[in-house]
Amino acid sequence: MSSLNRPASDGVSPPLDTVLNGLAHPVVAFDHDGEVTYANSSAQVRLGGWIVGLSFADVFPGHEMAFDRAASAGEVTLTSRAHVQYRGLFGAPSATGVALSLLPEEAADASTALAEADELTGLVKRNGLNARLEAALAFPAGDGKWVTVHCIDLDRFKVINDTLGHGVGDLLLKKVADRMRSACRKDDCIARVGGDEFVIVQNGVVDRSDAERLAARLVDLIGRTYVLNGHTVNIGASVGVAMIERGNSARDLLRNGDLALYEAKRAGRGRFRMFETGMDAALRDRRELEIDLRRALALKQFELYYQPFVDLSTDTVMGFEALIRWNHPVRGRISPADFIPLAEETGLIAKIGEWVLRSACMTAATWPDEMTVAVNISPVQFKSDNLVATVVSSLAHSGLSAQRLEVEITEGVLIENTDHVLKTLHALRDLGIKISMDDFGTGYSSLSYLQKFPFNKLKIDRSFVQGAEAGGDNEAILKAIAGLGVSLGMAITAEGVETSEQLDRIRDEQCTHVQGYFTGRPMPADGIAAFLSR
Ligand code: C2E
Ligand code: MG
Ligand code: MG
Repeated sequence: MSSLNRPASDGVSPPLDTVLNGLAHPVVAFDHDGEVTYANSSAQVRLGGWIVGLSFADVFPGHEMAFDRAASAGEVTLTSRAHVQYRGLFGAPSATGVALSLLPEEAADASTALAEADELTGLVKRNGLNARLEAALAFPAGDGKWVTVHCIDLDRFKVINDTLGHGVGDLLLKKVADRMRSACRKDDCIARVGGDEFVIVQNGVVDRSDAERLAARLVDLIGRTYVLNGHTVNIGASVGVAMIERGNSARDLLRNGDLALYEAKRAGRGRFRMFETGMDAALRDRRELEIDLRRALALKQFELYYQPFVDLSTDTVMGFEALIRWNHPVRGRISPADFIPLAEETGLIAKIGEWVLRSACMTAATWPDEMTVAVNISPVQFKSDNLVATVVSSLAHSGLSAQRLEVEITEGVLIENTDHVLKTLHALRDLGIKISMDDFGTGYSSLSYLQKFPFNKLKIDRSFVQGAEAGGDNEAILKAIAGLGVSLGMAITAEGVETSEQLDRIRDEQCTHVQGYFTGRPMPADGIAAFLSR
């Protein structure tokens, strides 16, 4: 250790090390051979961790020969391993070596970059953001405060832009920018880094709760209703938050913020997530699963199971719902709840959904004539233009009549792109296919959806069926949905019936069909004949 670490001699002044660590700018001491003998906290953060023992050239690559010249020159320009340029000032050499203090060049550039504003919103642009971040990282306040970034993505902005036009979209972005300004302090940096993507550098963060408070406030403020040219508009914001850790670069910080943002979106949008170390691993895991999913169709790893549904007036099996299973060679059987969302995110659902339709129709064509097959169709499939054509060709190829096919959709289908979806639903209906609304009661459950399209069947989600004790809230909801369906002329299926008590309760309501483990678990196609003969 160098003499710089010598404790204070008078017992009153703080130790020199404490003073140096309190400095905002990096200070490094070298011995006469150019080996680092000391680095204050700021230097460790900026120059890549514990650098004591490294050579001048390790710390400033490309400056191999420069140490002697540099030290005698007094003032030099140096580039760090993180490609940040500094103005370096050498002190007078002593018996033990020479000290170097660093001022980031970016600090000078920052003001120019920051001055360049995004035309529409007046916010800082990406260059300005980078400059600001570099500067913030180069001058850690040394007072226990954390540099924090909030990566923000607007939810449903594209829909507004597409349906109400760019004029309204632009207006919306301006209002969003205003709301961000009102949530932030004057010295925070708000940047627009993409069409509907923003990054905020928050200053003066003492602990995690400071960052959480701003993130929650952003989600709340941006999510409030807007009135734009007479249109009432609702969007949301997803926010990923990352706080600087020792040795992080600006790039790490933004990457961590993006990972957290990705998690916020995956968790359902309209919320914030703080970066956690495990997120890298979780992402890697998902990427691997995605690669496997791409190959699963070709490797024939998917299989359809079939679960019977029963008509309550006759107690006979009316048909089966096709439920996909993925037989993964390493992970075993993966539930659709775990891979359908990934298939939807990646667009793979189109091919998988087509396979499901074709296989289900082929299998159902071998069943007794009166039996129907129900197929789940993802909202993503509804957005494509060739769903109707796929259905038509699946029926033609299998020889199954359209009357024996039921399509199950969730309410999510009707939230975006309603006109296109309604057109598709009517086209399917015109073919003679029955349409069911699945999982009713769990999503938005807007009654207006029931008004927009005359569904043949409502399937009440199992959470209401299983929790329907006599006189409880769920029983009341069950009763109300069933009554509503009946008066609208729809059949009502109670999902998830597991016990005879639940079945009795369902019979008391006006449900027409039942589906659940009690009347039959999902089974492979080759188990159906035996099941029906029982
Ligand atoms: P869903 O369409 O509501 O299907 C019913 C789910 O409830 C099935 O889960 C079924 O196994 C389960 N279930 C049935 N009876 C009972 C019961 O008595 N108790 C309990 N606890 N559960 C019961 P599964 O097969 O894991 O499918 C989950 C969801 O994945 C389905 O919900 C559906 O939304 C989706 N899904 C399944 N197959 C496909 C497919 O081929 N395409 C698409 N797009 N989605 C699918
Ligand atoms: Mg279903
Ligand atoms: Mg369901």
